[in-house]
Amino acid sequence: MKILPYKYIANKVCTRCLMDDTVKGIAFDEKGECTFCKIHDDLERKFPLNDEAPQKLQTLVEKIKQDGKGKKYDCIVGVSGGRDSTYTLHNAVKLGLRPLAVHFDNGWNSEIAVQNIKNATNILGVDLHTHVADWEEFKDLQRSFLFASVPDAEVPTDWVIFSVLFAEAAQYNVKYIVHGHSFRTEGTTPLTWTYMDGKYVQDVQSKFGKVKLKSFPNMSMSKYIYYSLFKKINQIRILYYYHYNETEVLRVLEEELGWKNYGDKHHESKYTAFFQAYILNKKI
Ligand SMILES: [Zn+2]
Repeated sequence: MKILPYKYIANKVCTRCLMDDTVKGIAFDEKGECTFCKIHDDLERKFPLNDEAPQKLQTLVEKIKQDGKGKKYDCIVGVSGGRDSTYTLHNAVKLGLRPLAVHFDNGWNSEIAVQNIKNATNILGVDLHTHVADWEEFKDLQRSFLFASVPDAEVPTDWVIFSVLFAEAAQYNVKYIVHGHSFRTEGTTPLTWTYMDGKYVQDVQSKFGKVKLKSFPNMSMSKYIYYSLFKKINQIRILYYYHYNETEVLRVLEEELGWKNYGDKHHESKYTAFFQAYILNKKI
């Protein structure tokens, strides 16, 4: 088995999970369990998968439907063609919601991902809005993040997706963005690894880039606050209310939506596959 270099510089590893003290700000309790295990336990207490979970989800769904009355859509679901976003879109429709599916194409989609998005939205009868990046501009921005050697070179894509979801919600006066994330299957990533905002994206580009950013929404922090506090756009995660059985999820997606597997997690994007499977393994 290959031993990753970081193991040599960690002095303390959580007794329960894989996190260690190379993560800035991490703390360990008397049992040796880390901050991220505590966050997980807090979320488990807040979103318990007990007999009341279906009712809590139903209450949330009724609120979304109520707030969406008279509007073309009652929620926005970001889709990548990946497993969890497709499953979230499927569940949203099965719950009786009227989502608008939104996709950001940064030029690195695998053909399977593109087909997965088409199949899911066609079969579920959901409108799809795709934002296509200016290839030269976005490629230059991604290159800037690699040269900057900051922890997460996927920040440009993640932030633009975030920006596009809010922009669509605001345009259609929709109050809910439904994310496909679940703390149970994906954990909680340290902020020092994945922090992002529009100013940060702009700053890296101004230091390392060759072109000006102008073809996509790069949401500023003040705009984000405006969307959240004044437009009252909420972000919700419906997968928090489900028992997530991967075998069952894959069966539903493959049988009902013609979904195809593209390999490892997040590898629906060729760039993400390159970044997560190659760069992150090489970079220390
Ligand atoms: Zn831990």
